[in-house]
Amino acid sequence: MKLSLIVPCYNEENNVRPFFDACKAAFSGKIDSFEAIFVNDGSKDCTGVRLSELFSVEENVSVIGFSRNFGKEAAMLAGLEKAAGDYITIIDADLQQSPETVLKMVEILDTKPEYQCVAAYQEKRREGFFKTVCKGMFYKIINKMSDIELHPAASDFRTVRRCVADAVLSLGEYHRFSKGIFSWVGFETYYIPYVASERNSGKSSWSFRKLLGYSVDGITNYSVLPLRLPLYFGVLSIIGSIIGLLVKLFSGTLTSLTPGVLLLVILLLWGVSCIFTGVMGLYLSKDYTENKHRPKYIIKEYLPHDDEK
Ligand code: UDP
Ligand code: MG
Repeated sequence: MKLSLIVPCYNEENNVRPFFDACKAAFSGKIDSFEAIFVNDGSKDCTGVRLSELFSVEENVSVIGFSRNFGKEAAMLAGLEKAAGDYITIIDADLQQSPETVLKMVEILDTKPEYQCVAAYQEKRREGFFKTVCKGMFYKIINKMSDIELHPAASDFRTVRRCVADAVLSLGEYHRFSKGIFSWVGFETYYIPYVASERNSGKSSWSFRKLLGYSVDGITNYSVLPLRLPLYFGVLSIIGSIIGLLVKLFSGTLTSLTPGVLLLVILLLWGVSCIFTGVMGLYLSKDYTENKHRPKYIIKEYLPHDDEK
């Protein structure tokens, strides 16, 4: 069995070597063969130099260097495209996620053929209260609004079989949200808890603004509800305004254009315009989904009848 590690790196000059050494030590005698694919995502420090040094002395290291910072999602995709292993692990370069957990993931895939993916979730998050609450809210919202199901403490740290990596690569969308993609392609996922260690060196590159943009990408990639919302608002406001007008009519107060009546008429007209916007949203949402050119289904196994073999 060959294991491919995909390691996105952004300003990790002091981490890439310790990370690789830790993997080598942990995997020695336990994994037949492994390769580490480092993706230098336009780092501004000496990560590129450190990776070239590593490449020149280690035979199982590959390095992909981006022309600029394209983000972790792009780095994971580039790594997946080059990975040749039977099992593929996505892991951070900062040693917050340990190679020992990778061994656990590999063991699960080895012993449980019914699972195609092992995903790690953080049992206790180390982030501050505010970030934890925001992340919790994000997972609640996306699980309610979309047809995918995300683990509330999901991370990108996971090991998958080749078939899952191929399925993920068959989704060619530009705005990628891997947690959603892994959920969308299906397959059986085994969840294991892990405790993130302190960063070996450097600091997290995820600012609150970056996380917010990432969350918006996540929601809009997997839910067309925002495009349909005007339709629901329109229906509600039309019903509400008609009821209001009828009440006024039957109580005999619909005699002149009082401010109350005017408000109900405005609500009615606003509702009509919302409906038109919502109908446009309906068409747009269909076009949006079509434009992603996602596969219509993903086959996990095929047992053909003799004639078809
Ligand atoms: N990373 C990347 N591109 C970016 C930001 C981060 O490749 O634009 C990498 C980073 O080097 C690390 C992983 O993604 O290996 C996770 O990033 P980080 O440790 O900053 O995130 P956190 O652990 O705080 O969620
Ligand atoms: Mg980190």
